[in-house]
Parts: sequence; structure tokens; C-alpha cells
Amino acid sequence: MSLDSKQMNELHWLMEMLHNIDVGLVVLNRDYQIQIWNGFMENHSGLLPGEVKGKLLFDLFEEIPQAWFQNKAESVFLLKNKAFTIWEQRPYLFKFQNYRPITGSADYMYQNTTFIPLLSASGEVTHLCLLVYDVTDSAVHKSDLEQVNSELATLSQTDGLTKLFNRTHWERCLLAEYKRWTRSQQQSSLLMLDIDHFKRVNDEYGHMVGDEVIKHLAGAIKDCVRETDIAGRYGGEEFTVMLPDTDSEGARVFAERLRAKVARSIIQYNDIELKYTVSMGIAQIDKSMTSHEAWIMSADKALYQSKDNGRNQVTVI
Ligand code: GH3
Ligand code: MG
Ligand code: MG
Repeated sequence: MSLDSKQMNELHWLMEMLHNIDVGLVVLNRDYQIQIWNGFMENHSGLLPGEVKGKLLFDLFEEIPQAWFQNKAESVFLLKNKAFTIWEQRPYLFKFQNYRPITGSADYMYQNTTFIPLLSASGEVTHLCLLVYDVTDSAVHKSDLEQVNSELATLSQTDGLTKLFNRTHWERCLLAEYKRWTRSQQQSSLLMLDIDHFKRVNDEYGHMVGDEVIKHLAGAIKDCVRETDIAGRYGGEEFTVMLPDTDSEGARVFAERLRAKVARSIIQYNDIELKYTVSMGIAQIDKSMTSHEAWIMSADKALYQSKDNGRNQVTVI
């Protein structure tokens, strides 16, 4: 075998490999006309090399934003550097269907793409090679993981029974609000509330009914708060609402509305019907409070005044 034919053979093998490799290979000329189209591209697009050769890339694949692509490609032509796109920025360049059995949940193939300048013998970049990698598996896994993590984060902040913030997370929010106040000195109020004679509910009707009452109260709080208010379950049947940008009188109006709503509600559980009331305490933040705990203690003190004064009422400290 002569050297030439040996070289020819190797070249042929190389061509075969490039055709069959599990990566998309596209060569474009300076006018963005397709010159080379390997097996990967053929299989996923359903278009044969003969059907695409000489055609303008943007005519065949309308999903490719022309201005964005040209901007990227021109820098490759001019600077003779590689360029990249990753699926986190742009999920795909070519909109191919996803056929993978494991990651069948993805509607399309996620892709990373590399743009490679192809130099001619004279050193000019006359053509551009695109390498298209199918990264659907890792993209789907990463999205799944992110979703699970965000669900876990929400779960770790939420009270299971009421779906309000749990005490740990709520206290974190309160601390943030306290710190905000030390900088801005903007008014802000804190409300604590506790169900009146809740032990009697449990004793008389059982814990299941007690839980129903707790859930009802959480629902009433959710109905009354504004988007910026932060409500949490502080303990068993104790709740807290932080009211940013609200003075104590504003907080009193809110609390009265909630108190009245609760007092006129009737809880129905199977054939049981019952009513309940809540007592509340409000403290507007001021300079005498040297920590967020001191703020809680003030609101708590106000709450116990409401209890001492006969319950089903609001006290502002
Ligand atoms: P007061 O008007 O003084 O608040 O009287 P109270 O009976 O409500 O007294 P207290 O607030 O001290 O009692 C709270 C009771 O709430 C005690 C506990 O058995 C009950 N409890 C706490 N958490 C839960 C819960 O998740 N579900 C139910 N069903 N009961 C709870
Ligand atoms: Mg209590
Ligand atoms: Mg109570």
C-alpha cells in the first residue's frame, strides 16, 4: 500500500468516525451556509446532508436567533478564538426532540455548543465548526436537584400543620427586620396571639378538633395579612405576625379585624360545631428594645395583659 493510499485510508476512517461520533458536527462558511453535517445532526434533525448543504442555517432552523448567533460567530471569525454556549444560558441551539429513555421527562435535547474557527492554508478563518453536545442527562438531573433543594428549603421553613413559617424561620425574619430597623428607624410592629382556653377545646373535643381550630386560625391570619406581613406559628397555639412599615395603631386595626373575624367564625368538624376566640398583644419597635428578643418579650407582655383583662381582646404596649 503506497503512502498516499494509506493516508487516504486514514482520512476515510477519520471521516467515518466524525460521521458516527455522538456529537453534532456542523461546518459553516462565512455566509452561514452549511457545508458539513454529520450523522448526529442528520439523525436528530431528520435532514440528510444533501438536503442542508449550501442552505442558510437560519432558513432551516428558525429557532436560532440570527443576531445573537452572528454576533457570537463574528467574534470567532475575527479573533480566531473558540466560543461556547452552555445550556444554563440557552437550553439549546438546535431544537431537537429528546429521545433518551431515562431523561424522557425533558421535552427537548439540552445542548452545549462550541464554536471553533477553521483556518485556511493562508491563515484566514474562512469557516466555522460547531460542535453540539447532548447534555440532557446532566441538565435534567441538575434541574431535578434544584427543584428538590428548593422544595426542601421551603419545607424546612414551613410548619406542617398550618403551612405558615415555622418558629426558626420566622425568628430569622424577625431578626432581619430588627436589623433593618436599626439602620432605617422605620416603624414596624409585632403581633403575638394565643388561642383562648385552648386546653378546653382539646379536653372537650379531642386533639383532632384542636388541630382543626389551629388550622382555621392560620387560614384566618392568611386571609387578613398583606403580602409584606410575615406570619408564623410560634408554638402550639401561639402565632406571630410581623407588620413592617406599620405603627402600633395600624397594627391594632389589623388585629381587631382578625380578632373579630375569628370571634364570629364557626368551626364545623363532623357533627361538632364550636366557636373560639384569640387574645393578642402588639409592640411597635422602639429604641428601648436592644434586641429582637426584647421586641418579642414586649409583644408577649401585651398578650398576657389581654389574657389578664378577660381575653378576646387586643392590647398595645
Ligand atoms: P389561655 O387562654 O390562657 O391561653 O388558655 P389555654 O388553655 O389556651 O392555655 P395555653 O395557651 O397554655 O395552652 C395551650 C394548649 O395547647 C396546651 C396544649 O395541649 C395545646 N396544644 C399545643 N399545641 C397543640 C397542637 O398542635 N394541637 C393541639 N390539638 N393542641 C395543642
Ligand atoms: Mg399558649
Ligand atoms: Mg392559649
